Amino acid sequence: MSDLERAEPYGVLLYYKYASVPDLDELVSFYERSCNSLGLLGRVRLAAHGVNVTVGGKLSALEEHIDVVKSNALFEGTDFKLASCDQPLNDKVAKECGFTSLSIRVVEELVTFSSHPLVRSPDISFAGRHLSALEFHSVLQSAGKLLDEGSPTSSERLVLLDARNLYETRIGKFHTPGLETLDPQIRQYSDLHDWIDDNSERLQGKCILMYCTGGIRCEMASAYIKGKGSGFENVYQLYGGIQRYLEQFPDGGFFKGKNFVFDHRISVGSSNANVISTCLLCSCPFDDYSTRCRCASCRMLVLVCDSCRVEGSIYTCELCQKHSKCGLSTPATENCKSEVLPREIKLSTLSSERQEKITGFGASRKLRILCLHGFRQNASSFKGRTASLAKKLRNIAELVFVDAPHELCFIFQPPVIDGHSELSTEHRGPPPKEKCKKKFAWLVPPDFTAGSEADWKEADGPFDPLQYQQQTGGFDSSLAYLKSMYLQEGPFDGILGFSQGAAMAALVCAHKDKLKGEMNFRFAILCSGFTLNLAEFEHGSINCPSLHIFGRDHGRDRQIPNKASADLSEYFENGSRVVIQHDSGHIIPTRSPYIDEIKNFLQQFL
Ligand SMILES: [Zn+2]
Ligand SMILES: [Zn+2]
Repeated sequence: MSDLERAEPYGVLLYYKYASVPDLDELVSFYERSCNSLGLLGRVRLAAHGVNVTVGGKLSALEEHIDVVKSNALFEGTDFKLASCDQPLNDKVAKECGFTSLSIRVVEELVTFSSHPLVRSPDISFAGRHLSALEFHSVLQSAGKLLDEGSPTSSERLVLLDARNLYETRIGKFHTPGLETLDPQIRQYSDLHDWIDDNSERLQGKCILMYCTGGIRCEMASAYIKGKGSGFENVYQLYGGIQRYLEQFPDGGFFKGKNFVFDHRISVGSSNANVISTCLLCSCPFDDYSTRCRCASCRMLVLVCDSCRVEGSIYTCELCQKHSKCGLSTPATENCKSEVLPREIKLSTLSSERQEKITGFGASRKLRILCLHGFRQNASSFKGRTASLAKKLRNIAELVFVDAPHELCFIFQPPVIDGHSELSTEHRGPPPKEKCKKKFAWLVPPDFTAGSEADWKEADGPFDPLQYQQQTGGFDSSLAYLKSMYLQEGPFDGILGFSQGAAMAALVCAHKDKLKGEMNFRFAILCSGFTLNLAEFEHGSINCPSLHIFGRDHGRDRQIPNKASADLSEYFENGSRVVIQHDSGHIIPTRSPYIDEIKNFLQQFL
């Protein structure tokens, strides 16, 4: 690079656009041509519903790129955020930010709204109303003055919601005296919808002002909030994000600290940016992420000042510190989709659950629910798969997990039923034994002989989609086992079963009268259930309040057909039966509105 080239002003360009892309391939080649010919580096994400671009290069090249993009009708109204800055000097930072190469990728979603493959993103056409930086500022300015007026902008009704991650909010955020700023303290954007679900009562009936770095995250999150319906209509978002706001208010306005950005600049401050964060270790004011220190447990960026930083030392972020103080297990890493693949979930033994119950988190009464896993699962894997459910119900219910009594031998065809078939297709041969947890069942084929962990059995034929119907044996011993569990660990308020666990739970409910005094469940939650051994019972004859959760028609649930779950629900008394049909597959959905319906059902037993 010649000195002349080096001297040419450098810049960073950010823009996104939600629009239906008629020809994705054509758009890919357009970006390849444009970025390569102009020497732009960075990230281009293309999806059927839009583009999200962060690129750096010579200022003149970026301007040229904008001109070409603008000439395409698809990009009408796009807000191009162009900032001049120094060239990347720190290679490590530039590399981490993806600014040492050009990456053009076609993705499902421009930003990952949920790490769960089955949680659908909200419809962007419901996004909150855009407020320009000036409008946003004037709302904040008047918020303080409108305290007593009771108008929709009065500060009691107004909340500020920061849609960004903890490490961003740490170094800079909006602050207006007298106005509450909600900081979800999330590690990644895909955790935001969970926070919204958990805190919906703090948002309902409020006038919600949202902001993020450039605006794209608010588009989706505001649509998600508005999708909650009544009481969630007044959602506004800062158009162009903090970036546009700081351009409009170079002295920072109501924004305090620095704006974290995802390019080599790391953060951008106003003319009088003050340091609002502190070193993780010594608490001195510090906000420089250029050393890229990360939490050893969750990999989130942490701030460690120059004098505290020692090569090779291990840091634990404030969230992980908080969790370990509460005795909760270490959260999964940024890259690990914790609720989908709970690799680090500790084995859930009944005794530790019991311990929690005794030591307790607060004295308030919670429903205790005995949870039965599906076929070829175990307490630990089911606890992992329902971690999100447990979290969302944590104020009203405690889930207790138990292994079924029939141990299965390992087979190394992708699991038959209830298995994580999508997740395990990479295992073509027997996986290493030490990685295998024991797998259990409540009901087994009539000719079943107990397996052991030492056995490996090759699948003896192609997968039989109706195999779940053939496991008609083993009920009596499973029932006896549950009775002893109930005696040791009970009482329980309710029973929850998933798939074959639901078939088992339904049988327990069906035999309710016989079990009086030994096991009393006030309600049952049957997820992706089906009937086994219910022939002697009539429709509507099982007298136990029940919640049935299963995938809607069209084979949403590829393992248990909708009809089989619907049929099971028919056996329960009509008046106290609630059915939730969802858009997901063989899972228990925990997003809104399903989670609200589940809570509603449980409310009546509190
Ligand atoms: Zn320090
Ligand atoms: Zn951490």
